[in-house]
Amino acid sequence: MSTKILDELASLVPSDQFSTHPDQLAVVARDESTLPGVTPMAVIWARTTEEISKIVKVCYNNEIPITTRGAGSALEGSTIPLADGIVLDVSRMTKILNYWPDDLQVQVEPGIIYDDLNNYLKNDGLFFPPSPGGSGDIATVGGMISTNASGIYSVKYGGTREYVLALEIITGTGEIMTIGNRAIKRSSGYNLVDLLSGSEGTLAIISSATIMLAGLPEDRLQTAFVFGSDINAAKAVSEMRRYGLDIAAIEFLDRAIVQALNQLKEYKLSESPMLFLEFHGPKEAITSNAELAESICSELDGKPLTLADNQRPWEIRHWATEAVKHRKPGYSIMRNDVAFPISCLPEMVEYCHKVARKHDITMHTFGHVGLGLLHALILARRDNTDEWHRAGQVNDLIIKRTLELGGTISGEHGIGLGHKNLFATEHGSAVDIMRKIKQQFDPKHILNPGKIFDM
Ligand SMILES: Cc1cc2nc3c(=O)[nH]c(=O)nc-3n(C[C@H](O)[C@H](O)[C@H](O)COP(=O)(O)OP(=O)(O)OC[C@H]3O[C@@H](n4cnc5c(N)ncnc54)[C@H](O)[C@@H]3O)c2cc1C
Repeated sequence: MSTKILDELASLVPSDQFSTHPDQLAVVARDESTLPGVTPMAVIWARTTEEISKIVKVCYNNEIPITTRGAGSALEGSTIPLADGIVLDVSRMTKILNYWPDDLQVQVEPGIIYDDLNNYLKNDGLFFPPSPGGSGDIATVGGMISTNASGIYSVKYGGTREYVLALEIITGTGEIMTIGNRAIKRSSGYNLVDLLSGSEGTLAIISSATIMLAGLPEDRLQTAFVFGSDINAAKAVSEMRRYGLDIAAIEFLDRAIVQALNQLKEYKLSESPMLFLEFHGPKEAITSNAELAESICSELDGKPLTLADNQRPWEIRHWATEAVKHRKPGYSIMRNDVAFPISCLPEMVEYCHKVARKHDITMHTFGHVGLGLLHALILARRDNTDEWHRAGQVNDLIIKRTLELGGTISGEHGIGLGHKNLFATEHGSAVDIMRKIKQQFDPKHILNPGKIFDM
């Protein structure tokens, strides 16, 4: 990119909103994936829709790639920029633009952080439910919409897409438009809002979002169970779903994760697979649901887990990825977030461990399993070519088995760069239609090019 274009871009915003400083470029060069970062030419911190539109127009005229960035907490490389492109950082756009508590709706700028929004809403007894779990304190609402994030409480409340009503967007030509409206029931033509959810910044830049909210639960109850085998714990999950239990969260930790947690935090937990459950609602309802859950678990040899006074299930769960990261010095994580019909959970947990054993690779499985989502975290040494290759084979086998069972490559983190290789295996010729859709939003392919699929 020429100095002239960089100067032109710099002239569009106040000087504290533009940088080519190596330290600042290093921050936006990567996301939370283990993929290598890429240093862009510049970073621009937009503050208004109009600024974004002007920046996109200059980039459109000069065919400069733009990677939009919220908090950069994505896990599949979707926020990694291009070397000849810019990062458009919207994390300073944090305003609440409109609030309709009686309608359970709010309109926000894209950079507002998930936890900050919920802190604002809690005084009115409201919240934005699709918690991205461990990243709620950093993830932005724009990033959550763009990855269709979902997490701990999605069993009861659903994922981000279910809450998005309207968006103000800037397309790849710089045009500003509003899509969607504030009606909850809608049957009016193509749903472009749903299309934008999960599009990873490849179709348009979101400059504001009108989202639905839910009432904070009257009461909550957390319970935990320990099982004799990973399979029984997994079976208990599908049984609980089959019984139609009203349950807010079901988190699964296999034996290997519990071992890693004990190693990192000295929890002294019994080294057996576990389920952490949470129920929301009026006291009587949550008590009867919890009792039913306990009897289902006990039929599969699940026993209530008594935690020490200072131990909380979600705090323990929070450290799961960190515990795997620190388990073996010199090893890196290769991850996935496959999702499949819930009855396949026992088979998938077993399959992950079977292929890992066969390829002599260290495997951990856990996740928000209540909706059939499983993380298989593989540990391998990058500098050991053979081992890293075998880890990749195991990862691909898990994804292929998921697809055979009618599942998807990604239940929550998106495709980014990390899972592009198998995207066409999942979607077949539908990828061609996706390419044509992108062409309409982004005729010069400047919006986060190379992510999800190649043009
Ligand atoms: C410890 C940890 C735990 C996590 N747990 C979960 C979990 O439980 N569930 C889950 O779903 N995810 C989880 N994640 C992943 C991540 O936090 C989510 O994907 C989150 O939604 C990303 O938000 P962000 O603001 O960091 O987005 P970014 O990483 O900045 O961006 C993500 C994608 O969205 C695009 N984007 C961002 N903002 C905009 C915008 N305004 N307009 C258009 N495109 C945009 C980017 O270009 C990129 O493609 C976790 C991550 C970590 C580090």
